[in-house]
Amino acid sequence: MHHMTLAEIARGLADKKFSSEELTRTLLARIAQLDPQINSFISLTEDLALTQAKAADARRANGESGALLGAPIAHKDLFCTQGIRTSCGSKMLDNFKAPYDATVVSKLAAAGTVTLGKTNMDEFAMGSANESSWYGAVKNPWNLEHVPGGSSGGSAAAVAARLLPAATATDTGGSIRQPAAFTNLTGLKPTYGRVSRWGMIAYASSLDQGGPLARTAEDCALLLQGMAGFDPNDSTSIDEPVPDYSASLNGSLQGLRIGVPKEYFSAGLDPRIADLIHASIKELEKLGAVIKEISLPNMQHAIPAYYVIAPAEASSNLSRFDGVRFGYRCENPKDLEDLYTRSRGEGFGSEVQRRIMVGAYALSAGYYDAYYLKAQKIRRLVKNDFMNAFNEVDVILGPTTPNPAWKLGAKNSDPVAAYLEDVYTITANLAGLPGLSMPAGFVDGLPVGVQLLAPYFQEGRLLNVAHQYQLHTDWHTRTPTGF
Ligand code: GLN
Repeated sequence: MHHMTLAEIARGLADKKFSSEELTRTLLARIAQLDPQINSFISLTEDLALTQAKAADARRANGESGALLGAPIAHKDLFCTQGIRTSCGSKMLDNFKAPYDATVVSKLAAAGTVTLGKTNMDEFAMGSANESSWYGAVKNPWNLEHVPGGSSGGSAAAVAARLLPAATATDTGGSIRQPAAFTNLTGLKPTYGRVSRWGMIAYASSLDQGGPLARTAEDCALLLQGMAGFDPNDSTSIDEPVPDYSASLNGSLQGLRIGVPKEYFSAGLDPRIADLIHASIKELEKLGAVIKEISLPNMQHAIPAYYVIAPAEASSNLSRFDGVRFGYRCENPKDLEDLYTRSRGEGFGSEVQRRIMVGAYALSAGYYDAYYLKAQKIRRLVKNDFMNAFNEVDVILGPTTPNPAWKLGAKNSDPVAAYLEDVYTITANLAGLPGLSMPAGFVDGLPVGVQLLAPYFQEGRLLNVAHQYQLHTDWHTRTPTGF
């Protein structure tokens, strides 16, 4: 039962082959048995799951249908869940039970999903290895000595290990696409404003975006359908109709113009990954796509700009964790200053503290123009590069990451080495564009992802290309040994 995709589960439930309750019990038992190896969950919500599963079965018995009705999922632990711990992977929020549901959580619940639990993540979504969680590192089911990617590493590892078919995740600089690449999944970061950020604990508000992590494009379409849409509670949510994503999957790729940026194939890219990307290009050409070399000349400036903007916004967003209103409070503070300093010093881990310091510095008087403003100007140049490229091509294709998943601990002493691994993903966040990563092969037994980018609100096009590719390849069907 655990090998089924969301689409297969939807068919099985509709055909009454099994009930949501049966499936939920099977997956909860599987999580109890296997999750200790990978540490992908921070909290399990067994009681809620069984209540939701029984309710979904009752709704089906009453004649209701819907692809997500009775489908088991999990939420990254930065989506607020009412009455349930919402930790953001931090000691700071270990005792925090959210007073309300995030819009994504309530929309998916209304569609009938069953929440199995809250998944592990890098602390406050800062990271690309899922090693900065206060709840311990997550391990990659493909090789337990390697990282699963981050910051949505718990969602990715859980889906890759077949503990559940799909999960929610968020992407500020790659945290859906990079763990998807590292664990052989399909992950979609929607256009900025497509999915509500209300109730999603903020890291960098102008970059953060929620989206689906699943095994196939078909499943990403189903989950995105339940997540997307205008939300008056989020002032950056965009009032744009949500298309039928599943209906977009079957378009022909004949004549589709795919741009391949020459900057992507620089010295930093593992040549074995370059070979797999070229193989995926050949496959898409066979399906009728036309390949064109393009240029994104400002790409080289994207990492420095991102690592000013994201920490700047983080330093502002995280000022609310002060030991006074909610979250962690230090023991016996001497005075107010001591309360702030020790609550934050003890509650935040070292990567979060590093980002807050960098961000506060970049925003401080005298440095604002030199760093933050300059980074915002680079952001515009990066966006303009994409706008020029999309005058000539329909999608942009390249590697999701320059290297496969590294060994646990390998980059702990050198944070900048980890930042450099974000080179292919962060540009989409700077520009607000949608991006998808899908399985494209293996290097030393570790999965490799190919990334597709499209113009604003063309999530359907990305899902279409990925689905057609997946109809003709079987990388996405491979399962890690032992799971
Ligand atoms: N690795 C990037 C960072 O650490 C992106 C993280 C994310 O997308 N949440 O900021």
